[in-house]
Amino acid sequence: MSNLVTGLHHVTAISSEAQGNLDFYGGVLGLRLVKKTINFDAPDIYHLYYGNEKGSPGTILTFFPFPGIQKGRKGKGQLTVTSFSIPDNSIDYWLKRLTKFHVKHEKPAPRFEDELYIYLEDNDGLGLELVANKRDERPGFTYGNIPKQFAIKGFYGITLSEEGYEKTASILTDQMDHLLIAEKGNRFRYSAGGQPSGFVDILCKPEGLRGEGGSGIVHHVAFATANETTQLKAREKLVNRGYNVTPVIDREYFHSIYFREPGGVLFEIATVPPGFAIDEEPAHLGEALKLPPWEEHNRKILERILPPIHLDLKRFED
Ligand code: ZN
Repeated sequence: MSNLVTGLHHVTAISSEAQGNLDFYGGVLGLRLVKKTINFDAPDIYHLYYGNEKGSPGTILTFFPFPGIQKGRKGKGQLTVTSFSIPDNSIDYWLKRLTKFHVKHEKPAPRFEDELYIYLEDNDGLGLELVANKRDERPGFTYGNIPKQFAIKGFYGITLSEEGYEKTASILTDQMDHLLIAEKGNRFRYSAGGQPSGFVDILCKPEGLRGEGGSGIVHHVAFATANETTQLKAREKLVNRGYNVTPVIDREYFHSIYFREPGGVLFEIATVPPGFAIDEEPAHLGEALKLPPWEEHNRKILERILPPIHLDLKRFED
């Protein structure tokens, strides 16, 4: 039987104000803003989606920007690092670019075989990595301000910081089609397809403090499933194992179920269809404020509340 869960779909985090977020992810990192919409559960704040050209699953990092929100604390029970995949020859390019734009980062370091990473943080302190590797064959996206041969290709994987790894590992392997593919020290790597884009590293940190929510902290991680049938099957497996899983929720661009894994991280399983071209032409993704049909009647009010944001690419050339 083929996998019900096929890899990562998206990661969603909390940021402070929206313009700084757009400048960092669209401008400095060069990801495409693929959707500018609202938080469906709190419609007076944005929901910004960044990804590759189409916003393919496994490339999408999204934000709820809450202006003035308190900074969170990274720690146990959280997704602490979101890693992007970059081409093998691009480390020097990115080091120069991060320095030029005053991005907080560390020296490159090797990890598993054929993997060199730079740890960096966005302007809210969200933990990120750029991982240079030879295995990822996906083309990168660029607005043109970053040379295509150095562009980010999408996710490489994520790191979950946990008190222990066994319980989280067993839900990944028993209910979510992942296999243990590597381990070193306190890091255990799982994957549903073996490809860079969906690696899930569990970092075992029994001595650390528990994390606290706020800006610079991930809210949840979504895994991908092929369609609504596979989603319901995945839901049934989780319910049978005793997890509290939400009913299917319509997120307009995908359908979602949510549950909390034993270590404390909020997991989502999202369908690949319908995708971001459902309400916008592929060439114009992210340009207009898109509202779900049930909020359209509030458009005038929401357009007054939400601060206008704009990406000025000229400020982000090499
Ligand atoms: Zn989500």
